[in-house]
Order: sequence, then structure tokens, then C-alpha cells
Amino acid sequence: MGSHKEQEQAKCAWVHGPIIIGAGPSGLAVAACLSQLGVPCVILEKSDCIASLWKHRTYDRLKLHLPRKFCELPLMGFPPNFPKYPTKYQFVSYLESYASHFSIQPRFNQTVTKAEFDQSCGFWTVRTQDFEYISRWLVVATGENAEPVIPKISGLESFHGPVVHTSLFKSGSDYKNQRVLVIGCGNSGMEASLDLSRHNAFPFMVARNTIHVLPREMFGFSTFGIAMALLKWFPLRLVDKCLLTLTSFILGNTDRYGLRRPKTGPMELKNATGKTPVLDVGAMSHIKSGKIKVMQGVKEITRNSVKFVDGQEREFDAIILATGYRSNVPTWLKGSDFFTEDGMPRTPFPEGWKGENGLYTVGFTRRGLLGTASDATRIAQDIAPRWRTVKDSNNYSNSQIVLLWKSS
Ligand SMILES: Cc1cc2nc3c(=O)[nH]c(=O)nc-3n(C[C@H](O)[C@H](O)[C@H](O)COP(=O)(O)OP(=O)(O)OC[C@H]3O[C@@H](n4cnc5c(N)ncnc54)[C@H](O)[C@@H]3O)c2cc1C
Repeated sequence: MGSHKEQEQAKCAWVHGPIIIGAGPSGLAVAACLSQLGVPCVILEKSDCIASLWKHRTYDRLKLHLPRKFCELPLMGFPPNFPKYPTKYQFVSYLESYASHFSIQPRFNQTVTKAEFDQSCGFWTVRTQDFEYISRWLVVATGENAEPVIPKISGLESFHGPVVHTSLFKSGSDYKNQRVLVIGCGNSGMEASLDLSRHNAFPFMVARNTIHVLPREMFGFSTFGIAMALLKWFPLRLVDKCLLTLTSFILGNTDRYGLRRPKTGPMELKNATGKTPVLDVGAMSHIKSGKIKVMQGVKEITRNSVKFVDGQEREFDAIILATGYRSNVPTWLKGSDFFTEDGMPRTPFPEGWKGENGLYTVGFTRRGLLGTASDATRIAQDIAPRWRTVKDSNNYSNSQIVLLWKSS
């Protein structure tokens, strides 16, 4: 690419290989697979670093929920000295080494505001706040967790204390001796409540909807690993039955503690709706001992207190919203009906990785990093022969980007 001054003046750039939007694990995985096949690419990332979700928007105590072997990116495994469940810091250091090993250098502080396929010339134009990029191929890697979901709850804005989404929650140590309401009982809600309890805060966790809680491990083996192994041989419903029988043996009847189970089994529900079961890392024992109190839905929030649907009213010092995330694709991808209005591909896994006109998606499988690895490999294998054909007929230079137009 041109000098810094040239880049500043230029407004438009032709990208020889694909444009990847997002430098999280998914974007990095595609870039690595492409580089292995000799295909250059450009990654546009809105933040100032790789893996910004893991670096800036996760709590301190976070460890990978699944064992390491299910979370490795293609072509380079975790260092052998990593534990079975790496910490978020270890995962980030792995991603840094991964990017450096494959010489991946994203263009940071580039927020994609619009991407559109131009039918007349057959190229994608991708606009950021200060630049326009053009390419034959577009890889969407902005993640299922791009934006925090903030629910509409009557009176929330009038609450006197801090109201924080889990993407900004770091540690329970910030809430010592405080009464904290955690709204949401997924993995983040359970772990935030556990962390609060361990730091001598008084967490109350709202479980409005039904939820499957499974132990992270069963008899020394990861529950996820057991499920994957059983699914190779047995039908889904039988596997669910088996998991739930073992779970009730290990955790007891979670309904007794206010965590009602859905009628559909955990793996069947995951497949049908993408809803992930909670993998318990210790919160259940704090719930059983009463250190974490489970509450039913919130009816209304006032300045100092919260009214619940069962008629109770309690005072709180802080509220943590463990209310999940959503994809942001519909806000910037225009003229394509490949994604639903929720920002997820219409075609479910394993076929949701490829759209029309050179559009690809990675990391939208609701299968975490395992889905990312599968998507990334397929995308690179699909693009590589097309790239070679185009390269041979256009006599490309080694540069990834060619500046097309200067303002002066
Ligand atoms: C608390 C938590 C724990 C998790 N634990 C696990 C686990 O143990 N195992 C597992 O498999 N999965 C886990 N996940 C799921 C996890 O999000 C993914 O597996 C992984 O981070 C997905 O990577 P990604 O690259 O697809 O998305 P992300 O990591 O979200 O990366 C997307 C990138 O795109 C960038 N971006 C977004 N919009 C734009 C834009 N308009 N322009 C430019 N750039 C943009 C973002 O800044 C971000 O850097 C966890 C998620 C959370 C929230």
C-alpha cells in the first residue's frame, strides 16, 4: 500500500483479495486459511486491536466455556502447556501469536458503515468512516455478539445506582457488600452472579425464562465432549435424555431453585433455536446455599427498588444486565437478503457460510469457535481457486491494496 500521506489523501482503494470485516477469532481464522493458500486479504476492524470482544468486553474471571480442543482455530493449535479451559488472557495471547504467525495485520479503527454489491460492475464496495474499499469478495466476520442487548424495562432509567451490561462488567470486587440485581441467567448471568458472591456482594439473579443448566463436566469428562461423542451414535432426543438424567444426579432438580427447565432437551433446543445451555462452573452450589438468590421476572424498577412479578419488592445498589448480544450486520450490509433482520444467515449451519456474488460469512453458526473453524476452512478453499483465476488473468502485483483516487 502507498505511503501514509498517500493513504490519507486517497478515498478509494482496490483490494486484490477478499475484504474481511472483523478481526475477532473468525476474521483471523479466514485470513490464516487464505494466507496458507497464498491469497492476500484485507481485514477491516472497528476497534484498535484484534479480538476486541475478548480484550475489552469480557469479565476478568472468564475462561473458555468449552475444553480447548473445541476452541482451536484452524492450522495452529493452543500451546501444549495451556490448561483444559484456558483463561481469557491465555486465549487472547493465543490469538496474538496466531495473528503474528500468519502475518495478519488488520486495518484498525475502520468501522464499516455500509457494504453493498454493485450489480453493474460485479464488485463489493465497502465504506468505512473515511475510506471506500472495492473487492470481488466480501467476508462478514463481525460476530454474533457485536452489540449488547439492552432490554426495555419499565423504570430502568430512573434507577439511582449503576446499570451495567455484562460487556462492561469486570469483577465482583467492584460491588463488595452491595445488593446487586443480575438480570438474565445465561452463562454470563450465572458467572457474574458467582463472581459477585465470591467477592462478598449480595447477588439476586433474575431467571425470567426457562433454562437448561448442565454441569461443565460429568465424571471428569466435559459435558460438551460427552454430548458430541454420543451424538455420533445415538439420536438427539436419546442423548438429551441421557444428559438430563446424569445432570439431575449431579446437580439435583434445578426447578427447585427457580431455574425451570424447558420441555425441549438441551441439544435439541440448541439446534432448533441456538439457545446455549448454561455450563455450571460453581454458581449452582451458591444458589443452593442461598448466596445467590434466584428471582422471577422484573415487573418494574423504581429509583431505589425493583418490583418482581411475584409481588416481592427489594432495594438494590446496582443492576447488571446479562441480557446478551446481537449481530449488527443489518445496520451496514445493504441490498442482500442473505441475513435475517436479526443479522443471522437465513440458511442454517452447515450451509450458511456462502451467499451470492462472492459474499461469505464466518462465525454465525451458533456453534462458537468450532463453527468458526469449519466456516473459515470452507471459505478459503472456495475463494482460493477463484482468486488464482482472476490473478492469472490480471497480472496482479504483490500489493494487497491499490489506491485508486486522490482528493488533490
Ligand atoms: C462472555 C463470552 C464467552 C464466550 N465463550 C466462548 C467459548 O468458551 N467458546 C466458544 O466457542 N465461544 C465462546 N463465546 C462466543 C464467542 O463470541 C465466539 O466464539 C468468538 O468470539 C466469535 O468470534 P468472532 O470473530 O465471530 O466474533 P467477535 O469475537 O465478536 O469479533 C467480531 C469483530 O468484528 C468487529 N466488528 C463488528 N462490527 C464491525 C464493523 N461494522 N466494522 C468493522 N469491524 C466490526 C468487532 O469489533 C470484533 O472485533 C463466548 C462469547 C462471550 C460473549
